[in-house]
Amino acid sequence: MAAIRSKDTKPEMIVRRGLWSRGFRYRLNHKRLPGHPDLVLRKYKTCVFVNGCFWHGHNVALPRMEDVGCKKDDAIVNSACCKIPNTNRAFWVTKIRRNKERDREEQQRLSEMGWHSITVWECELTPKHREETLASLAFTLNHIYFQDHIVSKPYVSPEEDPLQLSIAAEECGQ
Ligand SMILES: [Zn+2]
Repeated sequence: MAAIRSKDTKPEMIVRRGLWSRGFRYRLNHKRLPGHPDLVLRKYKTCVFVNGCFWHGHNVALPRMEDVGCKKDDAIVNSACCKIPNTNRAFWVTKIRRNKERDREEQQRLSEMGWHSITVWECELTPKHREETLASLAFTLNHIYFQDHIVSKPYVSPEEDPLQLSIAAEECGQ
């Protein structure tokens, strides 16, 4: 289990350096945004959260409280990167569930404020996966920017398309 991490955790530093070296600029730990995102990229209207797998319950199916410690709980498969200890299991399940709910609520609020949220997981930043993760993060940011700034032609639905309408009318015998 990971120790309690301060704000300048190693995973976060990897993301910072990775984005900086690719030309992205950001603010850190924005206090006025929900969830105090680790990195805020205003130009991309995106918040990046660098999450520890254990504390934020990466890929873990949490048991219902009434199932903690019984057979059904045993059937719950812990993910590779988030193993809930058997000691004080109810405490950890409660805590991690609360963290996950809070993450979801905060990202929902950010979304309502017009912000995109990207979560980078600790396990995606191991030496083996790091480059791929950072490249994919950069790609996603550029994609978001493109989507938000390129004004595309207005979409014409088939119902509004005069050609489609006339075909439909013929088919109906009108
Ligand atoms: Zn993970």
